[in-house]
Amino acid sequence: MNANICHTPAQRPLNVGILGGGIAGATVALRLADMGIQTLLIEASSGLVNGPPICHLHAGGNLYRDIGDDQCLTLLRQSIASVRAYPHSINRRPTVIATPVTDSGDAEALLPRLKQVAQEYRRLVEEDPANQVLGEPDQYYRCYSREQFEALATRPLPAQARCQDDWLIPLAHHLDPETLKFPLILVQEYGWSLFRMAATATLALKAAPNCALHFHTRATRLEPCPDGWTIHGTNQDGQEQPFKVDFLVNACGFRTGLVDDMAGYRRERLVEYKAAYVARWQTSGDWPEVIFHGQRGTPNGMAQLTPYPNGVFQLHGMTDGITLFKNGLAASCDLSAQPRLPEQYRQQLDKGWQQGDTEARTRRAIAHLARLLPAFGDAEVGGKPLFGAQQIPGSDPSLRAADVSFEGNHYARVEIVKASSALTAADRIVDRLAELGWLEVDEQPLSPSLALTEGQNAAEVEQEAVRLARQRGYPSELAENGW
Ligand SMILES: Cc1cc2nc3c(=O)[nH]c(=O)nc-3n(C[C@H](O)[C@H](O)[C@H](O)COP(=O)(O)OP(=O)(O)OC[C@H]3O[C@@H](n4cnc5c(N)ncnc54)[C@H](O)[C@@H]3O)c2cc1C
Repeated sequence: MNANICHTPAQRPLNVGILGGGIAGATVALRLADMGIQTLLIEASSGLVNGPPICHLHAGGNLYRDIGDDQCLTLLRQSIASVRAYPHSINRRPTVIATPVTDSGDAEALLPRLKQVAQEYRRLVEEDPANQVLGEPDQYYRCYSREQFEALATRPLPAQARCQDDWLIPLAHHLDPETLKFPLILVQEYGWSLFRMAATATLALKAAPNCALHFHTRATRLEPCPDGWTIHGTNQDGQEQPFKVDFLVNACGFRTGLVDDMAGYRRERLVEYKAAYVARWQTSGDWPEVIFHGQRGTPNGMAQLTPYPNGVFQLHGMTDGITLFKNGLAASCDLSAQPRLPEQYRQQLDKGWQQGDTEARTRRAIAHLARLLPAFGDAEVGGKPLFGAQQIPGSDPSLRAADVSFEGNHYARVEIVKASSALTAADRIVDRLAELGWLEVDEQPLSPSLALTEGQNAAEVEQEAVRLARQRGYPSELAENGW
């Protein structure tokens, strides 16, 4: 990306302060550092991308029956850009979408949208062949009839999945077709490795000459100046340090409202507390991700089985006893831009989970999957949950594609719901800096590629990811690249 950095009115090179080093803050830092802009990233925890989990890329939004086609197309475009920016963090295996007979939905209802998404993917590849990161456009999705599925059940498990049929065979061996509506849909919705993403960001930003990283530092006070902000950061020992910046990016995830409050800005938002679980299940074959659709918040809520190497699976169950939590969706109010979650969830967010809660909810998640995949009842608890809260700007809890908003000339807040929107948010911040006259950028749209991640080595990223997973108390398989 070509950009000339103009001087600020105070005749210094532009200096951007980023609060929060989740995928949003790390992506903004990478984009700006890539362009030679001086950045300062302040992160309260010990490392980058250390917040709520990410496991689905959402390249087409097919997990969500309740969102509009426009959001699905946005998620597709953003996911393609994310794969190009962070290629070593992607788990390249498809997703199978199944509608159980217990669900009132129609298994064919997704087809008109899938056609649109596939058409858009084809258009993007024609526009730029480097966009072909989800396989051949005409193989973006495939429908399987009951007869085809039953025929696959008679085939032996391949040593390695090499074609679409191969990915269905483990499922065909285990699922009773009587329990499903047809067609089953296999779609190129890949997984996104939280730990390889954390490793990518860590290796790239530590090597970036113009990004200063401050870990274990929480922004506790903001002071507006005529040409920017002074951020007061407090470290682990309670010592305060001021940082003067020309432009502030609030990328504090579900705590974004606390920083809005410090800056004196109102904003309506929701915050949702959720968790996913880790199980071990001795099985064979290359498993796809499996989504069993179901009505959110009911006992039959959607069940998601996300595979990792060596029989490790991540589980979601969209019921109040598994992934969702009673009163786990909170809204901001007139007095504060920060929604307030119930005390018990705030405790878990700050101090972690008690072993009893981990056991109880993980076992419930296993049982939820075993309703449809009975053999999965043998799975065991595989570790502590992946949990956290996410923000949703506005008041619509089904919003999935959101990016950034601005206040005045010196403040941006990144408010992504899905990780793939981070790059769009970063690019809109670049546009804003150019609009403000602090950058001169050429007319070309920004390429999704990042020089700081482009030359990374897959093995080094994986090694760092395994280190981070262990350090954070998770099985190393969650970091490994099995595909
Ligand atoms: C159970 C669950 C499953 C999910 N699964 C997916 C998925 O499969 N795919 C997907 O795309 N998304 C998923 N999400 C959503 C995704 O996790 C979030 O959208 C994403 O993490 C948001 O990134 P962020 O950088 O905005 O926020 P965060 O990751 O929350 O990062 C914010 C950072 O700011 C830091 N911070 C906060 N306050 C301060 C302060 N005052 N000073 C300094 N630092 C501060 C925090 O320590 C944190 O590191 C899931 C969320 C949950 C809860």
